[in-house]
Amino acid sequence: MSDGKAARQGICILGATGSIGASTLDVLGRHPDLFRVVALTANSNVDALVDLCRRFEPELAAIGDASLAGRLAQELRKAGLRTTASGGPDALVQAARLGSVDCVVAAIVGAAGLSATLAAARAGKRLLLANKEAIVCAGSLLLEAVRGSRANLLPVDSEHNAIHQCLAAARDANHAVKRLILTASGGPFLRRTDLAGVTPEQACAHPKWNMGRKISVDSATLMNKGLEVIEASWLFGFAPDRIDVVIHPQSVIHSLVEFVDGSVLAQMGTPDMRTPIAYALGFPERIASGSPRLDLLQAGPLQFEAPNQEQFPCLRLAYQALRAGPAACIALNAANEVAVDSFLKRELPFVRIPAVIQEVLARCSGGPPGSIEAVLELDREARRETRTLLTRSTWTS
Ligand code: NAD
Ligand code: MG
Repeated sequence: MSDGKAARQGICILGATGSIGASTLDVLGRHPDLFRVVALTANSNVDALVDLCRRFEPELAAIGDASLAGRLAQELRKAGLRTTASGGPDALVQAARLGSVDCVVAAIVGAAGLSATLAAARAGKRLLLANKEAIVCAGSLLLEAVRGSRANLLPVDSEHNAIHQCLAAARDANHAVKRLILTASGGPFLRRTDLAGVTPEQACAHPKWNMGRKISVDSATLMNKGLEVIEASWLFGFAPDRIDVVIHPQSVIHSLVEFVDGSVLAQMGTPDMRTPIAYALGFPERIASGSPRLDLLQAGPLQFEAPNQEQFPCLRLAYQALRAGPAACIALNAANEVAVDSFLKRELPFVRIPAVIQEVLARCSGGPPGSIEAVLELDREARRETRTLLTRSTWTS
């Protein structure tokens, strides 16, 4: 194409006001010649969304909470912007499908992002996946949609992004690769032996990564790594016994692939999500991300240790759910979302989170869901179950 502007990729960010949203916009802002921001979405923070619209002037801004659509439209008008406002869960789906969108960055947190992420895949958009809960809940449907529409799925989660990079060295990953090794920082409580009385502030103070509150708590319980094992299993087609987790507190190696010949490839870098985001945005080219460069002389010794599954049972529960099947993975995720929310509201003690999930998993039954409606129904059921459990029992003591 001769017109440079017309050749720019149109980007939609689902969850633009979050941590991944901000990192993505930072990378996009460095490459106005390559990308233009076409659609931005948020859940309920109208002011933050309007601020982003002022900076990036997208065609469309969508707010998840339908009752805020009027205020969003008003604020956009007041700001003198031509951005169209829309609201409600359907508006998120519409944003993902927009004709002028080439690439969708799925950065909503939780199963709430599933419908719009799936819509992007079905519409054949290039899909940059950060929203791991979407693939944990609906891996089969999402991959089927990607195949069906010939969409391109690129993982943003740093571990999966690292594995994607390492797998470039394999012609046939299934035969060439022995196992995938996901690294985990260990979270803020790696060296803490007594987790009683842990506060949301302590759980969210991650030593290496600056992230949204839900994923920060997941990192503290190691459920984040559990969700990532399930995510890796879907993305790369590996059974659970070929996916290992190793604690690596420095967060310099973002994951590794062990090949049958004994070679082990690792991807390294400073812990900054702009690196995997830039990789996914630019793929197969490489573009600058703004991340500080890795200084090996400053990185210090790199350590590795086995995860303590006694103290952090969530990782074991995630493997258990993965082996049990898709319905169990949906229940695991839903119970975790409800339990984490309850912990963040200071209702449920941190140490009880795994027990709540275990209890919900034990009650879960059902075969693999064949449709998005079935996934969402299983998700709602598990949430109901978890909430009932939280009110009925004495979890809070
Ligand atoms: P965040 O809480 O900072 O942002 C979440 C975004 O989703 C916000 O824009 C929010 O408005 C939107 N949102 C929340 N609930 C919504 C709903 N019900 N409907 C519509 N929109 C909703 O979260 P984050 O840290 O940016 O994480 C986003 C996703 O990326 C998560 O799935 C997380 O696991 C994954 N991820 C994050 C990081 C990281 O470094 N932050 C790294 C790897 C993967
Ligand atoms: Mg990760």
